[in-house]
Amino acid sequence: MEFDLNEEQRALARTVRAFSVRELRGGYSQRDRDRSFPRDVWKKLGELGLLGMRVSEEFGGMSTTCVTQGVVAEEIGREDPNVGVAALAVGELVGHMLEHATARAREEFLTPMIKGEKVPAFAVTEPHCGTDAAAMKAKAVKKGDRYVLNGEKSGITLAKAADFVLVYAKTDNTGGAKGVSAFVVPTDAPGITRQFYEDMGARSLVRGSIFMDDVEVPEHCLVGAEGEGFKLMMKGFDASRVYLALSCLGAALISLEETIKYTRERTAFGKPLARFEGVSFPVAEHSAILEATRLLCYKALWLRDQGLAHSKEAAMVKWMGPRFSVDAIRDCLLLHGHYGWTTELPFEQRLRDAMAVEIADGTAQVSKIVIARELYGRDFLPY
Ligand SMILES: Cc1cc2nc3c(=O)[nH]c(=O)nc-3n(C[C@H](O)[C@H](O)[C@H](O)COP(=O)(O)OP(=O)(O)OC[C@H]3O[C@@H](n4cnc5c(N)ncnc54)[C@H](O)[C@@H]3O)c2cc1C
Repeated sequence: MEFDLNEEQRALARTVRAFSVRELRGGYSQRDRDRSFPRDVWKKLGELGLLGMRVSEEFGGMSTTCVTQGVVAEEIGREDPNVGVAALAVGELVGHMLEHATARAREEFLTPMIKGEKVPAFAVTEPHCGTDAAAMKAKAVKKGDRYVLNGEKSGITLAKAADFVLVYAKTDNTGGAKGVSAFVVPTDAPGITRQFYEDMGARSLVRGSIFMDDVEVPEHCLVGAEGEGFKLMMKGFDASRVYLALSCLGAALISLEETIKYTRERTAFGKPLARFEGVSFPVAEHSAILEATRLLCYKALWLRDQGLAHSKEAAMVKWMGPRFSVDAIRDCLLLHGHYGWTTELPFEQRLRDAMAVEIADGTAQVSKIVIARELYGRDFLPY
């Protein structure tokens, strides 16, 4: 069993850490206040080759391993978990899907996304259904050499910033999940309108609703075969969920490091705070739990790299990663006393940002349904 990163991965981690400190740290809180997505950072991520890393070289990506991409998610998450979510979760899902797109669609959307020239979004959820995604009502009807899309997608990360969106819609209303197809749609297509939300956290992810009113796309914008959309999407979730977890863990781990430094220096009753077990034990507990979760993330990615089953492990960390990160960040905030409660320190924002990931891409409940399904078998699914 090998737990260490290789030299190439260690070098990449150093590069991404330096990039993140330089490009992300300074604006983290401002982006939250402005509710703005950093397009300039997106471009730089593309220039550094950090977008679409998993996409095969044949299509302009880097064909890296999932473990290597995990290292990038963790390092970016230390400075801005929202950028980690955009680049490594949305970017991964869209990159994974577009590998199944037509050559023309790959050229129009995948290549510029990898270069950081176009921002993607990924639209499954609808006002009446999220967990039960197969109950979606959005429709795509073939008319000649085009598809006509109608429906409303809600809760969509990057809705405001996206240049194009990967939309899931029913091409066959009788088939449940098997009737779902995927389409790549430019956000300036006639018939698209958008509405943005005032979120409590992850504000730079500029979420919103996307409305489609007789939106026409040429048939080369169908991604994969008709009816294949849901199956392809679920395969993507098994990776994106781990990157989401690692982005949060990055934010929690840096919070713990900052708290260790602070409680070493701050004194009360004539001693450093760290000498009191009421202070050092929560730090010790979170450190143990986060390390175990982190290792499970890399195990899930390693399994994916080996072509082995990993849905269970991905679901485990999708639940544990944001949940335990939120717990750790909360205690780090409290251990900074009244300073921790101010917006001068990053803990309150990290808390809100990591909590967003408890819902995004599937809640704790759906993660546990997946874990139970893998343990008991499909016959014991609750639906
Ligand atoms: C920050 C953020 C980013 C997001 N980004 C995107 C995006 O980019 N694209 C996109 O398509 N969607 C996105 N979403 C939407 C997200 O995927 C859904 O919110 C999520 O899947 C839950 O769906 P829902 O909100 O409809 O809740 P519901 O499905 O209505 O669930 C409500 C509650 O009931 C629980 N529940 C539901 N079913 C069961 C069950 N069988 N057993 C036990 N409990 C259950 C849920 O866990 C939840 O607590 C995002 C959401 C957030 C908060």
